[in-house]
Amino acid sequence: MSTFSLDPGADQLAVRDWLHGFAADVMRPAAAEWDEREETPWPIIQEAAKIGVYSMDFYAQQYFDPSGVGIPIAMEELFWGDAGLGLAIVGTTLAAVAVLANGTDEQIGTWAPQMFGTPDDVKVAAFCSSEPDAGSDVSALRTRAVYDEAKDEWVLNGTKTWATNGGIAAVHVVVATVDPTLGAKGQASFVVPPGTPGLSQGQKFKKHGIRASHTAEVVLDGVRVPGSCLLGGKPKLDERLARAREGVKGGKSRNAAMATFEASRPAVGAQAIGIARAAYEVALDYAKTRVQFGRPIIDNQGVAFQLADMKTRIDAARLLVWRASWMAANNQPFTSAEGSMSKLYAGETAKWVTSQAMQILGGNGYTREYPVERMHRDSAIYTIFEGTSEIQRLVIARSISGLPIR
Ligand SMILES: Cc1cc2nc3c(=O)[nH]c(=O)nc-3n(C[C@H](O)[C@H](O)[C@H](O)COP(=O)(O)OP(=O)(O)OC[C@H]3O[C@@H](n4cnc5c(N)ncnc54)[C@H](O)[C@@H]3O)c2cc1C
Repeated sequence: MSTFSLDPGADQLAVRDWLHGFAADVMRPAAAEWDEREETPWPIIQEAAKIGVYSMDFYAQQYFDPSGVGIPIAMEELFWGDAGLGLAIVGTTLAAVAVLANGTDEQIGTWAPQMFGTPDDVKVAAFCSSEPDAGSDVSALRTRAVYDEAKDEWVLNGTKTWATNGGIAAVHVVVATVDPTLGAKGQASFVVPPGTPGLSQGQKFKKHGIRASHTAEVVLDGVRVPGSCLLGGKPKLDERLARAREGVKGGKSRNAAMATFEASRPAVGAQAIGIARAAYEVALDYAKTRVQFGRPIIDNQGVAFQLADMKTRIDAARLLVWRASWMAANNQPFTSAEGSMSKLYAGETAKWVTSQAMQILGGNGYTREYPVERMHRDSAIYTIFEGTSEIQRLVIARSISGLPIR
C-alpha cells in the first residue's frame, strides 16, 4: 500500500508540467472555436494522440499508479485547458474503464487499442448506460440482451441516450438487462464492435456547455454481437446472476457496477477542479488590473474575500479528490462514500467558482470575449453527469447512516 502523500513526487510533477504545456499551447487557443462549432475536435484529439496523451498506455500508467493521484492530476490539467476539448479527449476512457474493470485480459487486449485507434487514424469509444427513462435510476434500464445459444451470439435491442461519443465511436460499450427481475444486478456490459449492423446514432444534442464533446442517442435494433463480446464472459455472468438471485432473497447482494462508478467519481471531480481553477485564475488577474473608483477592484474586501473563498474551496475539493483517489488505488473501502463526497464537492465548487468569476468580471464576464462565460456553462454538467449532486448526497447519506434513505 502506498502512503497517502500531498507530494505527488517528481514523476507526477513532470507529467503535470507536460500536460500543462499541452493544455496551454494546444487546447486553450482552440477552445472558443470548438465551443462555437459544437463539433468533435478531431484535430485536437489527433494532437493529443501524437504526444501520447490520447492513448490506452497513458491512462493505464496513471490508473495503476499506486499514489492514486496520477489520474486526478492529468484530469485537472487537461480541464484547466478546456472542458469541452478535455471531454473530447478523455470521453473514450469511460468505455475503456468499463472494459478494464469488467473485461478479461483477452478482451482488454482486443478492444482497448481499437477504442483509441492510432495517431494517424484516431478513434473514439462510447459508454452507453443512460436511457430516456433510466438516468439516475440505473436499475430501470430497458435495453435487453438476449442470448442466442445456437449461434453463441447476444442480441441487443433498446435506445440509449446522452452517450458521450455515441454513434461516432468505433467501439460502443453497452449496458443491457439480461434478467429484468434483478434490476441493476441483472445487467451486463457488452462491446459492440466497429461497423456492427443495427447500431445507429439517434438525435445529437445541442448543449449548454462542453459543446466540443459529442453527446447523442444510440439506437440498438437487433444488434448481434459474438458471445465473446460479453465483458467478463458467460460463466462469470451466470455465476454473478445466481449470486444476485440468492442475494435478492437475502437482500445483501452488492452491485459491482455501482462500486465501479463510485471509484471513478474522483476523476470526474478532478475535471471540475480544473475548470474552477482556470476561472479563478482569470478572475484573480482581472481583479488586480480592473480599476474602478480609482483603485483595482481587488482592493475591496467584497471582491478579495470572494477570491479567498474561491481558492479555499478549490483546494478543499482537491484534497477530497486526492483522498478518494488514493483510497481507490489502494483498495481502501469507501466507508463514508468518499468517492461521492469528492465528486459532489468538486462539482458544486466548479459551478459556484465559475459563477463568482463571472461576477468579478462584471459585463466582460457575461460575454464571449472572456473565457469565464464558457467555463461557467461547462461547469454546469458537473452537478449532473456521473451521478447528480442529489444522487451523490443519497449515496453519502446511505453510507453514513446504514439506512435505505430515499
Ligand atoms: C453532456 C452529458 C453527457 C453524458 N454522458 C453520458 C455517457 O457517456 N454515458 C451515459 O451512460 N450517460 C451519460 N450521461 C447521462 C447522465 O449520467 C445522466 O443525465 C444523469 O445520470 C442524470 O440522469 P437524468 O438526466 O435522467 O436525470 P433524472 O434521473 O431524471 O433526475 C432529474 C432530477 O431529479 C433528481 N433526482 C432523481 N432521483 C432522485 C432521488 N432519488 N433523490 C433526489 N433527487 C433525485 C436528480 O438529482 C435531478 O436533479 C450524460 C449526460 C449529459 C447531459
